[in-house]
Amino acid sequence: MDDLLRLDDRLGPDQRLIRDTVRSFVADRVLPHVGDWFEEAVFPARELAPELGSLGLLGMHLEGYGCAGTDAVSYGVACRELEAGDSGLRSFVSVQGSLAMFPIWRYGSDEQKDEWLPRMAAGQAIGCFGLTEPDHGSDPAGMRTYAKKDGSDWILNGAKMWITNGSIADVAVVWAQTDEGVRGFVVPTSTPGFSAPEIHKKLSLRASVTSSLYFDDVRLPASAALPGVVGLRGPLSCLSEARFGIIWGVVGAARACLEAAVEYSKTRVQFDKPIGAFQLTQEKLAWMYVGMTQAGLTALHLGELKDAGTLEPRQISFGKLANVRAALDIARQARSILGGNGITLEYPVIRHMNNLESVLTYEGTQEVHTLVLGEALTGLAAYR
Ligand code: FAD
Repeated sequence: MDDLLRLDDRLGPDQRLIRDTVRSFVADRVLPHVGDWFEEAVFPARELAPELGSLGLLGMHLEGYGCAGTDAVSYGVACRELEAGDSGLRSFVSVQGSLAMFPIWRYGSDEQKDEWLPRMAAGQAIGCFGLTEPDHGSDPAGMRTYAKKDGSDWILNGAKMWITNGSIADVAVVWAQTDEGVRGFVVPTSTPGFSAPEIHKKLSLRASVTSSLYFDDVRLPASAALPGVVGLRGPLSCLSEARFGIIWGVVGAARACLEAAVEYSKTRVQFDKPIGAFQLTQEKLAWMYVGMTQAGLTALHLGELKDAGTLEPRQISFGKLANVRAALDIARQARSILGGNGITLEYPVIRHMNNLESVLTYEGTQEVHTLVLGEALTGLAAYR
């Protein structure tokens, strides 16, 4: 589709190369199969992870340990192209790089970094991030998962819910209350007392593994705790990294829906005309294009702020709030343009539309990000 505002002209040569490489990976390896993965509720993580690793997409904005060390805009562009394939694919990469590798990279000991990061960057080890609990989602400060000292060991008890990659992970970064405050633990999933049953019957992000995590007297050595952070700012800093990927990613999902709608509108004939020749359809397409392009501009601007080292959490809330809402609106409009065909997996639209319902909720719901902006505008916190 034509880039009317020439937004991608602002990308440098390396960023364009990443864009083109990821786009062709998605075209070859994902698009031919993703409708079936979605229908069958599978995500072939073990197959795809080494390929994503060899493309340098796992922990790609981190330095060292086999990570690509790209700038933030490059990471964003990669997320955009991955999510044009499927939000489940982008979620896998976000969780691996921003939620599992990032805390080890930022807050971990040298031993933890050496043990996990090179294998995770190569896609040989898969990670997950356990923050949300059955009774504590938007308000993680109330979490009940607890790690208690026993000599120099830690004993971990509790439960997490809605954990992406949980059942397929080799390592879980788990956030738990301790006597000192919230701490992060690097938990090999083979540790006795750890279990991760998959959550079934999802109608969104079906090509993505989502699980509960249970910790039943999980004994961990002292070296399992992340030494570099105490308090909720640890997990929140990881979420800021991952939300940045969402801000870009959903532009890709929106583009896939818009492209499908434009194509369909040119070939579907009703009342002796292609439906794209009706003004009502063109109005939909024009606003979808405006929404997608504005979301792309927001993503690029926030990427430039991140590369300048000045990106603030409330700016990330702005981007997540605005871009996910825009993408979901575009997906719904595209669904209507495709008529009855819009509800089948023969086209990508309803898959993206259903996926975006999860993206609207995870990594801070729309309401929570609205409250962040409300507080930024008024100085008054309205969370409780
Ligand atoms: P709740 O917090 O119970 O919210 C329910 C509703 O109440 C929402 O609309 C919310 O906005 C609203 N609400 C809550 N508080 C307020 C308030 N103060 N004012 C106004 N409205 C309010 N978590 C992880 O830790 N790791 C993962 O890998 C992960 N992956 C996920 C994958 C999927 C597919 C999904 C669906 C979720 C995932 N999550 C993960 C969890 C996700 O982050 C939570 O679902 C999210 O934070 C919301 O929590 P909740 O579902 O408990 O909803």
